[in-house]
Amino acid sequence: MGKIRVLIAKPGLDGHDRGALVISQALRDHGMEVIYTGLRQTPAQIAQAAVQEDVDVIGLSSLSGAHKSLFPKVIDALAERNASDIPVVGGGVIPGEDIPFLLEKGIKKVFTSGSSTEALASYIKQLIDPKEKKLESPTKIAHIGIAVNNIDEVLSFYTDSLGLKVEGVEEVSSEGVKVAFLKIGESRIELLEPIEETSAIKRFLDRKGEGIHHIALEVDELEERLSRLKSEGIPLINEEPKTGAHNSQVAFLHPKAANGVLFELCQHQENRGAE
Ligand code: ZN
Repeated sequence: MGKIRVLIAKPGLDGHDRGALVISQALRDHGMEVIYTGLRQTPAQIAQAAVQEDVDVIGLSSLSGAHKSLFPKVIDALAERNASDIPVVGGGVIPGEDIPFLLEKGIKKVFTSGSSTEALASYIKQLIDPKEKKLESPTKIAHIGIAVNNIDEVLSFYTDSLGLKVEGVEEVSSEGVKVAFLKIGESRIELLEPIEETSAIKRFLDRKGEGIHHIALEVDELEERLSRLKSEGIPLINEEPKTGAHNSQVAFLHPKAANGVLFELCQHQENRGAE
């Protein structure tokens, strides 16, 4: 396909377009053709420009707080021109509580003030370019890892009091830990006990004591996902997947990425297709 064509527009009356100009330039740097409508466009003018310029996607920016009325009006104006197939994404100063409403009104995705232009560019590429790999949302919490001093000492709480079933206990020597898996619906609780002084779990226990150590999300396309996270500037502990328990491929994000929470991404064998 040729270059992705993007219309960047600012509906409404707010008079600041520095953000829109920065976004336009960032998307151009990603090889896209960007048409910027300028300030104070009506929803009808924006829809008209999108049709005339034959764009692949519309990016709406709002700082004025009028996004709740103006963004849906752009969706309506596109429908009136039989152009509902042009996806619309929104961004700017948009409080989290408005996002479900905007999605319901037909905005494809809302980028908030913390979003990077890298994340916007890679989203647009995934949306428009059929060659671009689609990264689906994580499908579930694969497990919650809990650091303990001694698995045998705590196991009865999980099995007797909570009634969970022990699925297996295995030593992961590369991590210097013993792991007990307790199944809970589609997910698991993993009790992690250090078996070596050098284990990261040992350091965690020394520093913080027993407790939740990490949350693991089940994903597909782990390698591609890591390189995308890296390009978006998300700090990673593992830039490449490594082999975890049950032959899964895993990688950890740096806790700096998520308010001090350690996230693990894991991809299990059965989700890797016919490799
Ligand atoms: Zn884990």
